[in-house]
Amino acid sequence: MIGQQHHESGAHFAFTDRWGGVSAAPYEQLNLGGAVGDDPRAVRTNRARAAGALGLDPAAVVWMNQVHGRDVAVVDGPWREADIPCVDAVVTARRGLALAVLTADCTPVLLADPVAGVAGAAHAGRPGLVAGVVPAVVEAMRKLGAEPSRILAYTGPAICGRCYEVPEAMRADVSAVVPEAYATTSWGTPAVDVTAGVRAQLAAAGMVVREDSHICTRESADHFSYRRDRTTGRLASYVWLGETER
Ligand SMILES: [Zn+2]
Repeated sequence: MIGQQHHESGAHFAFTDRWGGVSAAPYEQLNLGGAVGDDPRAVRTNRARAAGALGLDPAAVVWMNQVHGRDVAVVDGPWREADIPCVDAVVTARRGLALAVLTADCTPVLLADPVAGVAGAAHAGRPGLVAGVVPAVVEAMRKLGAEPSRILAYTGPAICGRCYEVPEAMRADVSAVVPEAYATTSWGTPAVDVTAGVRAQLAAAGMVVREDSHICTRESADHFSYRRDRTTGRLASYVWLGETER
């Protein structure tokens, strides 16, 4: 259910795995994505279970319609289902409100400044890395009073650079923007390491970048991977600040 969890200075970071839910194959079991063809009732049940495991009210979780862009929304409460914007990052200054990112190979990025009480979450795949969704979410957090040197940053389970094969020209295009994303597959062909690129962008922005999850979704049977399975579920990553803790 909850594969990895970190608590630090009143900030909470959590990453799910694929187990402990009610979805049937090929979404088994804990699919948290609402736009992948799964039964919506199963997704609702799964979201309630994951929230329960984290001690969160399922109604106080903010989800996005992710589109591989760099737009950021500022939120102070959950959106109504019909009003969920197409963005790849959200920020909030509201304690207790959880921000969620859906992924199956892309890199989830969770950020929190416990002193300012500002949290941020971003979905960074290859397009988002190049478009700069990471610097965009940091800038949005700054506008709410966050200070990069205080921001705790985590990246979650994602496809690794040894698995994410791309055409040579694509690797060249990506690494021209983010050199740290240059990679080679374990079988010797051009690849992109999105997480390495994201972490380089976080470090360049002056943030406190914590240890990576070190989980490759394509290699892990406990995680959903779009590259491996195509039709599959979505993992969720959550960040929130405790109501009163500092
Ligand atoms: Zn891998």
